[in-house]
Amino acid sequence: MLNAHQVTKDYQIRVLDHIDVSINDEEFVAIMGPSGSGKTTLLHALAGIITMDSGSVHITTPHPGTGPNTVDLSSLTEKQRTALRAGSFGFIFQQGLLVPELTTEENVALAAMLAGTPREQASMAATHLLSQLGLGTMLQRRIGELSGGQAQRVAIARSQVTGAPITFADEPTGALDTATAQEVMNLLLALIPQQGKTLVIVTHDPNIAAQCSRTIHLLDGQIVHDSQHPAQPRQEGTH
Ligand code: ADP
Ligand code: MG
Repeated sequence: MLNAHQVTKDYQIRVLDHIDVSINDEEFVAIMGPSGSGKTTLLHALAGIITMDSGSVHITTPHPGTGPNTVDLSSLTEKQRTALRAGSFGFIFQQGLLVPELTTEENVALAAMLAGTPREQASMAATHLLSQLGLGTMLQRRIGELSGGQAQRVAIARSQVTGAPITFADEPTGALDTATAQEVMNLLLALIPQQGKTLVIVTHDPNIAAQCSRTIHLLDGQIVHDSQHPAQPRQEGTH
């Protein structure tokens, strides 16, 4: 569970304006709103990528053995936030932000290694996931040799390789053509099990929002609409 209280962020102008939002475990939340409304900034504040000017974000993650563990993002050092992100969050950005010098397999394995998984095990997990996403023959290709849709599938694999409880996706298909975007989206939604996993996804696509269980609309740094709704059944991936 993710609990944001009065989150405020200014860049010359106010970008996030006293945002209150709680996201429960197992929710699939679509964040919508016009360009410049603060969607990316909100995602980055919730995930501890940027610091906020005021307000708080508390994150409760399952902790095997000791039970749920709640942390106050603003009480963490940069290093602790980095560790939290590596271990508990998966990220997918509009442009994959993959490492071009590394192969497909290495890009995905790296995320697991940063979360503390030994190399061989990370490599096996990466191979397994990439094969599941239809990239079994591309494991040794460098990112530059892939199509946009393939690169985003690598980004999806990277976001899921640690089994992170929370996935943040920022317009993950925004740079793809419509058909490829739908295919990549189906793969993402099919890959994240509804049980035990939370997804926060920024999207302009009402079809994607319909496949989530909640839609939040932002305007000028404020939440103007927040509704829960039944998630439409997901379609099968077509790869
Ligand atoms: P969205 O993702 O909804 O398009 P953003 O969160 O990216 O919106 O940006 C919201 C506003 O904050 C925009 O006016 C943008 O120019 C500004 N902004 C975002 N990031 C920065 C930054 N690092 N420095 C200065 N202004 C920024
Ligand atoms: Mg954005």
